[in-house]
This record gives sequence, C-alpha cells and structure tokens, in this order.
Amino acid sequence: MATTIQTLPQEVVHLITASEVIDSFAAVVRELVENSLDAGATRIVVYLYPEQWRIRVADNGCGMNYDDLQLSASAHSTSKIHSGADLFRIHSLGFRGEALHSLTTLADLEIMSRASHNCGFRVIYGNGGKISQIEAVAMAPGTVITVSNLFGNCPVRRQGLPSFAQQMKAVQETIHQIALCHPHVAWQVWQNERIWINISPAPTMGKLLPQILSRVRQGDLHELTLLELSENNFVENKQLDSKFKSNIYIVIGLPDRCHRHRPDWVRFAINKRMVKATELEQTVFSAFHRTLPRDRYPVCLLHLTISPEQINWNRNPAKTEIYLNNLTYWQQQINQAIEQALRINSDTLPEAVQTSRVSKLIKAAEQQKPYRTNRSIQPQPNPKTDTSAPTQHSELSTQNSQLPTQHSELSTQNSLKAVAQVSNMYIVVEHPGGMWLVEQHIAHERVLYEQICDNWQLVAIEPPLILYQLSFTNVEQLQRIGLDIEPFGENLWAVRTVPAMLKAREDCNQAILELSTGGDLKAAQVAVACRTAIRNGTHLNLDEMQNLIEQWQRTRNPHTCPHGRPICLSLLESSLSKYFKRHWVVGKSHGI
Ligand code: ADP
Ligand code: MG
Repeated sequence: MATTIQTLPQEVVHLITASEVIDSFAAVVRELVENSLDAGATRIVVYLYPEQWRIRVADNGCGMNYDDLQLSASAHSTSKIHSGADLFRIHSLGFRGEALHSLTTLADLEIMSRASHNCGFRVIYGNGGKISQIEAVAMAPGTVITVSNLFGNCPVRRQGLPSFAQQMKAVQETIHQIALCHPHVAWQVWQNERIWINISPAPTMGKLLPQILSRVRQGDLHELTLLELSENNFVENKQLDSKFKSNIYIVIGLPDRCHRHRPDWVRFAINKRMVKATELEQTVFSAFHRTLPRDRYPVCLLHLTISPEQINWNRNPAKTEIYLNNLTYWQQQINQAIEQALRINSDTLPEAVQTSRVSKLIKAAEQQKPYRTNRSIQPQPNPKTDTSAPTQHSELSTQNSQLPTQHSELSTQNSLKAVAQVSNMYIVVEHPGGMWLVEQHIAHERVLYEQICDNWQLVAIEPPLILYQLSFTNVEQLQRIGLDIEPFGENLWAVRTVPAMLKAREDCNQAILELSTGGDLKAAQVAVACRTAIRNGTHLNLDEMQNLIEQWQRTRNPHTCPHGRPICLSLLESSLSKYFKRHWVVGKSHGI
C-alpha cells in the first residue's frame, strides 16, 4: 500500500464511528499488527513486556518515509482512505487514522521506520502526536513501533484491567485470530525476552490451523473453496481467478476425527477479519446436526471474501461486528458449502502414493499377477436418478440445481470397491488412496437415517397395532411424531399408522414402544434407522456390500452415524507404506 498519509477532512471524520479503541494490551497488539499487515508485511515479530507495560511490533512492510512519519500519529491521519466514499470500498484493516494518535495520549510512542530506497528514521512522539525527537537510523526496510508506559497516565485504567496472565491470554487469542486470516505471514511473539508463539506461514487457513489448535492434525480437516461466478451460482474450484464476485472458503474438522466440548471453534472471517456472527453460527450448528456425539460441537472456520461495497465495517470501533447485506442468501450458501465439505468425494479421497520408485515397482509387479478376479460388480442405480427410491437432499436440489456437486462423486463411485467382509461386521473397501474398514451396521444406519429424513412416511396398518399400558406422555409422544393413535378400551390403544419402514417388521410393536419413550421427530427417525439397519453379525455377499458402500458414500454426512460415532477406519497407502518400511529398498530376495 502506498503510504501517503493525509489528515481526513472534517466531514469524513464525522462519518466515522469514534470511540476509544485502545483499552488493553490485546487492543494495542491488534492495532499495531493490523498496521503491519496493511503495510504488506510477511514477517511480524511482537515483543511483550507486560510488567513494564511495554509492547514492540516489528515488521518487514512498506515502511514510512519522512513526510509520513510527520503525520502518522496526528489525529485522523491515514493513508488508507481519503474521502467519505472510500468508507464503502475498504480493502485495509485500518481506516480511521486514530490508533497511533490515541497511543500518543495513552503511552510513550516511538516509531522506527524505513521505506525502501529511503533512509530510516527514529521518531519520538509527544502527547497529541507531534514529533518531539527525530534522528536518522540504519535499519532494514520496515517498521518497528514501541509503545511503553501504557496507561501510565491513567492508573485507574491500569487497575481496572485483569491480571497479566489473563491479558496475555487475550493477546494470544488476538494473534491466533489474525494469523488464521493471514496464513501467508510468519509470526513470532516474545514475552520478556523468551519466545512464546511461533507460527510458520501456510498456504491456507486450514493448513495453518494445526499450529494453533494443537490437537488437530491436517488429516482431520477438510477444506473447500466455493467461487461465486454470478448471482446464486457457487462452484467448487481450487484456482481463484479474476471472474469471481465473491468466494466462500471453509475448513471443517471431519466429524469422526474432531469435535469440541464447547462451541469455541466455529468462527467466521469476512475479508480477512474475524467477526462475530451469531446468525451464521446457528447455520453451522444445524448443518452439523446429527453428525456429532451429543453435546459436542464442530470445528468449522468460514472465510467469506465479498466485495467491500457489501460490508459496512463502520458499525463498531473494534470492527468485530458488521452489517452483512443479504443474510439469508449467505446462510443458504454456507449451508451448501458445509454440506459439500462433509461429503466423500474425489477431493477427500487421498491420491495413491505412486511417486516413490518402490511403489512403481510394486505396481509393475502387481500387473502380472493373476490375482485379479473377473467378478465385476455393477454399481447399483443412483437413488437420485431412480425415481422409485427416496430422493436425497430435496431442499437443496431445487435451490442449487446448477451446481455440479454430483460430478465428483460419480467419478469416485467406481473407485470404491468392497472386497471382503470381516467377522460379519466390517466391510473392507479398496480405494485409490488405500483402504477403509467400514462398520456395516452404522454405515447402513446413516444411509437409512437420511432416507427416512428425506422421505418420512406414515402408512396405514391393518389390523391396527394394539398396545397396552401406555402412559399419557407415551401417547402424547406418539401423537407428536404424527402417529394415528386412539383409545381401544381399558388401558388399550390402537395405532393405525406407523412409519413406512417399520410396517413389515416383526418387531413393529417394540419399535413403536421405543418411539413412545421420548425425543423429537429427529430422535424417532434415528431410532427407526437404528432398528432397521442390518445388524452386525449378518453375513453379506459382495454385491450387497458394494451396494451398501455406494449408498453410504452418497450420503450427506458419511463420516459419522446419527449418534456421532465414526463409520469408517481409514488405512491410507501412505501410512501403510511407512509402516511396512517400503522405503527400505532391500532387494529382490525380499519380494519387492
Ligand atoms: P489507520 O491504520 O486507521 O490508518 P493508524 O493510526 O493505525 O491509522 O496509522 C496511521 C497511519 O500510519 C497508517 O494509515 C499508515 O499509513 C501508517 N502506519 C502505521 N503503522 C505502519 C506500519 N507498521 N508500516 C507502515 N505504515 C504504517
Ligand atoms: Mg491502524
């Protein structure tokens, strides 16, 4: 960003939400590092000396020349906007031109800065932002800002702050949030001369996340970018190009791999800034409904990149809240993005590891072996095109019919091959990246649950089921989920409609009794799915297994069953080859 600092005209100053933004250590760090990022820095080092009330931030950004340094700490002086109209095209993190100025009234401010091709200067500012001392210094291009004696002139403010430990926690949180939004930046944070936080740059938010959320590994996450090419038309694409209007980037923790006991990792960023968005949070929670164990919350980070005219950052001084035009539209798009991220498609299937010499040798050797059988398993008809089968995700197919979401799935479909059943319980599935062990009962439960949700049907049963000794709450519960039930004599009840899936079952009576014990409609649907899914211990032939695997793979939430249990154990070729130490090239005698 070219830094020509100007003082904003009065009429623009009046438009800006003004209030004290610097009220803590974390706020100072936020303002200084945001300035570094606006200056294009790729390396930021923060030094904290809490007991001395001192903070220093050094960056390799564009720096400031002599003229800029004269103005930088004056009131309402900024290089980022110049007119009222600029407030609606904000591309930078800062724009009010107030932070450095406030710091001169709350602390001692020193700036060392050098714009490339210029000489560096060290400036000490007096109260109000006037330069009180200036000298030339030798330094690399960039800026080093030191704030000392913070709140020294307002002891009441100091006393009102939480303990240093708590303030440092807030600083850490601030840096983490900002780092996630700027993954290409290298960060170092020192506390009292000891390194405290070190974050290496990464290509995306998702690739950076494991450095911040230490128990999460890269394989536990799935990331996806949807581009908006024209109104209401988002497509999945890894390559950003100039045609896009906006995009949604999402990284989710796969529900079988990670979840949290608090909803602390559902986060939103808009144009590189984390924001509070309670309405969008609810959208995320409902998109993850019935994929996680009870009382657990997803890991989900969403980053919307939208044109600056659609955002008003001027809502509150800390810029953590914004007005987002068209909220319902964004809720729908986010829902769709999560839905897509949760599916199994060619993107989530890792590529086979075929690069090493040894793997190539193995491949060549395998081709000559006669162990490939001729049995060809025909994929079952796709329930989405087969009109007799219940349709999946009906609400979405109408909304986003142009989306090529099925495309990648279909290509994956044939690359999944059920090869064996183990202990009448697990299905071994081969795929290009290795193999899966799928638990047949819960995979089937997931398939049935989604079918039931999409096509919940109550059908008449003749003669009616007669139940006895139902309590008032039992009866009420059955009525609530829609069953036709009426008294049939003393302590007897006749049930005249039942869920379609249960009608032909011998244990229909017990199933209805189970449904009468509580829960909402969704809980009833889970119970029906669980009861009707194939049991563990049931022998399946290859066709049945293949059919189940393909149906499961097409579900919206293939990672977990509706109770949140993981469905499949993945053994990737990359880890198998490590385990079997295939990189030890030991020669022919060992059979490679
Ligand atoms: P704002 O960020 O809202 O413009 P600030 O008071 O934070 O206001 O900063 C005033 C100006 O000082 C900025 O507009 C920018 O031009 C300059 N500036 C501040 N910090 C840096 C930095 N680290 N590198 C380069 N320029 C900076
Ligand atoms: Mg600023």
